[in-house]
Order: sequence, then C-alpha cells, then structure tokens
Amino acid sequence: MAQLHNLGFPRIGKKRELKFAVESYWAGNITQAELLAQGEAIRAENWALQADAGIDLLPVGDFAWYDHVLATSLLVGAIPERHQTADGSVDLDTLFGIGRGRAPTGCACAASEMTKWFNTNYHYIVPELSSDQQFQLTWSELFEHVAQAQKLGYQAKAVLLGPVSYLYLAKCAGKEFDKLSLLEKLLPVYQQVLAKLAAQGVAWVQIDEPILGLELAQDYRNALKTSLNALAGQGVKLLLASYFDSVTAYYNDIADYPVDGVHFDCVASDVDVTTLDSLLSPSQVLSLGVINGRNIWRADLEVVYANVKDIAAKRADNLWLAPSCSLLHTPVDLDQEQQLDDELRSWLAFAKQKGQELALLKAALASNDVSALQSYCAPVKARLTSKRVNNLAVQQRVSALTATDGERNSVFAQRIEKQHAALDLPLLPTTTIGSFPQTQAIRKARRDFKAGELSAAQYQSQMAAEIRYAVEEQEALDLDVLVHGEAERNDMVEYFGELLEGFAFTQFGWVQSYGSRCVKPPVIWGDVSREQPMTVEWSKYAQSLTDKKMKGMLTGPVTILFWSFIRDDLDKPTIANQIALALRDEVVDLQNAGIEIIQIDEPAFREGMPLKASQWQAYLEWAAYAFRVSASGVKDETQIHTHMCYAEFNDIIAAIADMDADVITIETSRSNMELLAAFEDFAYPNDIGPGVYDIHTPNVPDIAWIKALIHKAARKIPVQRLWVNPDCGLKTRGWEETRQALDNMVKATKELRKEL
Ligand code: GLN
Ligand code: ZN
Repeated sequence: MAQLHNLGFPRIGKKRELKFAVESYWAGNITQAELLAQGEAIRAENWALQADAGIDLLPVGDFAWYDHVLATSLLVGAIPERHQTADGSVDLDTLFGIGRGRAPTGCACAASEMTKWFNTNYHYIVPELSSDQQFQLTWSELFEHVAQAQKLGYQAKAVLLGPVSYLYLAKCAGKEFDKLSLLEKLLPVYQQVLAKLAAQGVAWVQIDEPILGLELAQDYRNALKTSLNALAGQGVKLLLASYFDSVTAYYNDIADYPVDGVHFDCVASDVDVTTLDSLLSPSQVLSLGVINGRNIWRADLEVVYANVKDIAAKRADNLWLAPSCSLLHTPVDLDQEQQLDDELRSWLAFAKQKGQELALLKAALASNDVSALQSYCAPVKARLTSKRVNNLAVQQRVSALTATDGERNSVFAQRIEKQHAALDLPLLPTTTIGSFPQTQAIRKARRDFKAGELSAAQYQSQMAAEIRYAVEEQEALDLDVLVHGEAERNDMVEYFGELLEGFAFTQFGWVQSYGSRCVKPPVIWGDVSREQPMTVEWSKYAQSLTDKKMKGMLTGPVTILFWSFIRDDLDKPTIANQIALALRDEVVDLQNAGIEIIQIDEPAFREGMPLKASQWQAYLEWAAYAFRVSASGVKDETQIHTHMCYAEFNDIIAAIADMDADVITIETSRSNMELLAAFEDFAYPNDIGPGVYDIHTPNVPDIAWIKALIHKAARKIPVQRLWVNPDCGLKTRGWEETRQALDNMVKATKELRKEL
C-alpha cells in the first residue's frame, strides 16, 4: 500500500508560537531553556497534527529556529569567523547572531546576508564559505529532534538540505573561488551525520537537492553524482528530493543515482508519472508530490487518483505520496479560520488539510472506492464554474487587451518634454518612496477601528490628520514631490486586496518569510475587479494641502500577484492583467482628480522570475506588459513612477526599460551606487532615482556622504535624468531620524544644484 510522507511542515506553529517565543527570547523575557522547551512543544504538536491526519513517515529536521539553511551551516560547522567564540562552542546565540547581527543575544558583528529561497517568499541566511573552509559536525539539534520524535513513538524520516544545494546557495567569503571544490571536505561531515542517524535507528533520510529544479552546469551535475555516491551506504536509506520545477533534463542522471528513492514535484510542471515510474527500479521508492505544497487550494483528488492508480497497484509499498514540496509555504490549519464563509472555506486546504487529502487518497487507492474522493472534490469542481469566481465583464476585458493597451501615447523622449513643462521641477528633484513612519498611534487607531472601538468617521479623521502632518513635514523640509505618507495602509498589498473584488483574507494564514517574520498573503480566489476608486480621495485630500506636486501611490499588478496566494485555475499573466486593468482605472481616476505624478510600486518584480533561465524572457515580457497596462491609460503629461527595492538588476534591466516608467526609484545606497552600472551599461533611457540612503537603519546620513553618492550617480547617468530619494519607504523608521535624514538629503541636493 502507498505510504504517505511530508517533506516538511510549517515550523511557526498554529498561532505563530515560534515567532512569539523567539522574539520573547530576543527581548530577554524568557530564558534559553524556556525557548528550547517551547520549540519542543511546537515540534510535538506538528508531529501530532501530521500523524492524526494520517501521514506515515514524519519529517524531522524541518524545524529551524531561524531558517533551515542556517541550521545546516551550524550542523556542518560553517560559522563565519566574526561569529566564532573563543572556545569554538556553538549554541542558539551563535545562530541568532549570524541571522541578526548586532542582537541582544548575538555578538557585535554584522549579520550574514539573507536572500530568497528559490522562487518563494521565504528567505534564508546565505552561508559564507572561504576557499580554505573546514567543516565539522558541530550542532547536535538534528539528533535531539530525532530522539524526541522517537520517544513520542513516531517513525522519523530525517530531512537534510543536500550538500550540493548547500554549496550552491552559499557565497564565497572574500575572493571568488569554485565552491564545488569544498565538496570533498563537506561530504565526510554528511557521512558522519548519516552514520549517527543510522545509529539512532533512523531508516530513511531525505536529501533535498532543490537545485535540480534549475538549469545546471555540468560541474553541478557531476557534483550531485559524486555526492550521492558518497552518501549511499552509510546505514540509512536515501530519498533524494527535488521540487519547485521539473527535472526532466536530469532523468538519466537520476536513474543512475545510487539512492533508495526519489521524490518528484508533480504539480510545478506537467509530468508524466509513467515516465517517472520507469526511471526507477521496482525496489526503489517512487515518491510523487501530488498535492501542491505552495498553495492553499483544495486538491482535485479525483484527478490525482486517476493519475496514480495504476502505479500504486504496481509499486505497492514503494509508492510514496506527498505534497510537492515542504509545507513550509502554506499556513498550518484551515480549521482555525472563523471568518471565511462556508463556500470559500470549502475551496481551501492548509498544511493539516493537505495531509488529510493524502489520507483520503490512500484510502481510495486501498479500497478502489472513490465515493469519498468525489464528495470531497465536489467544491473544487463547483469553484471552476462558480458565478462568484467568474466575472464575465472582467474576462472579456482581459481577452480584448491588445499591444496598444500597454503603450503610452508617445515615446518617453516626447513625454518627458511635456512633463517638464507641466511639472516645472528643479534639477535633481527630491522625493520619497511613499510611506512615512507608521507610528504607534497609527497602528493603534487601525487596531481600534478593526475592533469596532473607533468609528469609520473617527478613523478617517485620524488618518486625515496623519496625512496632514506628513504633508506639513515635507513642506517644511522643502521636498519637491510630496507623498501622502500611506498612514491609512496596513500593508501595500493587503490595502488594495481589501478594496478589490476577488480577494479574501484569512485570520491565521501566516507563512514564514524570514527569521521570526511571517506574512499573511491575501487569497485571490476570483476574477479581480475594482468596484470604486481606492486611493483617490486620500490623494486628492493630500494634494489639497499643498501647492507642491503630490505623488499618487499604488502597488503594481506584479507585486499584488506575487505577494498573494493566487488561483490555481487561471494562468499568472491573466491574473496579472486583471489586476492591471483595475489599477489602470485607478491611475486614470487619480489623473482626473488632479494628481499629475503617480507611482506604481513593483518591489516583487524580480521575485516572479522562473527558476529556469530559459523561461525568464517569457516571464519578463508578460510582467512588464501587465505593468504597462496599469500605467498606460493616462496622457503624456502625467508622470508615471515605479519603485523596486533590491540588488541585482543585470538580469532584468531590459525588462525594466520595457516597463517604460517615466521614473524608476531603486535601492542603491548600500552598494555605493554600484548597482547603477546595470543602468549605465544598458544605456537605460528614462529617469532614475537611485536611493541615497539606507532606510533599514536609523542612522542619519550626512550631507557630504549624500553629495558624494549623487556625484557618483551623475558620473553614470546624465544629471538631467537623476532624482534624489531614499532607498525605500520610511514606514519602519521614527520621525526624528526621518526628518534629519531628509533634511540632509534636501540640503545636499540644493548644494549640488549650485555646483553641478
Ligand atoms: N510605497 C511603498 C512604501 O513607501 C513601497 C514599499 C516597498 O517598496 N516595499 O512603503
Ligand atoms: Zn522599496
């Protein structure tokens, strides 16, 4: 009979217990022993949830205090030198120190870099490896967790991030070198880990090699082979796991690996399960990831059943069924949701429910009786044709879109002339990215409003007062293009999701983003439309308070898409275009209300990049098109800005040019304007506002420093096309430091205008 397993389970706890425990520890409110006890309790609850759902083999080693790549670094003793202690000891504080840098519990050293885990919104701490890196088995948590699971009577399957993916994800500390040269030193530590697990009585170890979803150079393919050869025969059975994308290109490699089983993601791309079956011998385990581990939708189990039935009969125990990837990317338990209506709820499945889906599947396979599956899937089928989901007018509008809908009336060179005439801004116009400090008072007002303790009118008038305050501050600072400050926005996606049709919000649908930080993405369940203007009144009000230009502020279609849980019954470009059309109407309404500059933020633009480089182009085309659809309904004089806050632009610079925003503001201060090189090399034609100070710290940049940065920028980009602004929004900062920093920014700019 098929066996059920999970590649990993959300570690944050049903009610984000891990977050609160870890943060209390950081704040000094609980001891390390108390924190450890809380972690133990969360793991126990997670295993119980999975076992109750019917999962046979439970993952152990998926729990992490910060992220599982950092946990792997500790396991193999890859501790950046600045975080090492004199006696070489390693404990939780070492881990938090690497993750957070200057923390109450860390040493006074910089944190390691953090970056996105493949194409998810989960982040990991990038291992820093030197060319003479030594590895040694250092951190014993994995074995403790195994012992805990065994003591509770569970069959533990240990989960390890594979050595080749680990090296791939690492960065070179100091000079660049071939990271794969470290493999021969890393493998003995992994062998030791496996031997220890074997001694503990662990039968199966899952080796995650998610890089198999990428387009790999031959050296990485060779390394995978070397690695698996070295790891085989250490007394445990190996399940190689890949996920997030197809591995078709490596079928021959995989068939040759000396492993006891292989897990395939069957939902990220179309796969033929018969082919997968034929790759492995009958004595190997074929693990099929048939339930989507990254979304929140109830699965169509009838389809899955039909797909796996024959293989299940043939492989018996050697067929394993699982979600496509670790459930880390889904919320924990739908049963906690009190505010979703029954119909919507019947369309959803969170981590616990996904386990139950597997159990239903297993029962049907065992009995050949699909009646339970049929009734479970009835809502999935109903959703497809639901009137609530399908909005004909929206669908028709999207299918009628043409290339022209994604084009402004004139090319940039002509538009900018008209904009200069209409806007009359000085050289090096100064502006900000949108948000001003979200103070305690603002948050409290929102909480009170949600709790019904503040009436809508009271809440609105308090927000109006906040906006007025932000405008007065900006006038006093003498900034050129003002913003309203986004006081009324809880979150840049949630705010729009709440006002658009087709979105729903959960109460506990949290997923880990990084460290203790979790996000609660909205759910896009239906065709998206805008019933009424969303930001016009606030922008109009803000504009009425000043003679300066007030910049309207919107979140772009690509960002709304990628920061939500999206429908599984519609392709991404179509969803993006639906959102784009709703935003396009908003942009036009803003213009007609007298707003002459409108910013459409796209911080998630890069995030949607597919794993395989050969698919980037197609993505960038539809993403840039969706942005342009949102931006192109206006006349030439209306200036469209966009904003992106991150590092690497090289891969996407052509697409950024293709977005054709009149002005783009980007994060550059930490790179010392180095990031502008991509724009310079590409001869990027439109206006740019390279950030002149880092908003992630409260440090106030001094005038000379800002001037030096702008000088540097002016050497790369003609000064007529430069704007001056911070790296990103100021919502996480306090007013005092914000005022001082912006004051220096404006002063630096004024001095430069005279000098340049
Ligand atoms: N306008 C948003 C803000 O200023 C942009 C945030 C972002 O780029 N992440 O907060
Ligand atoms: Zn930003």
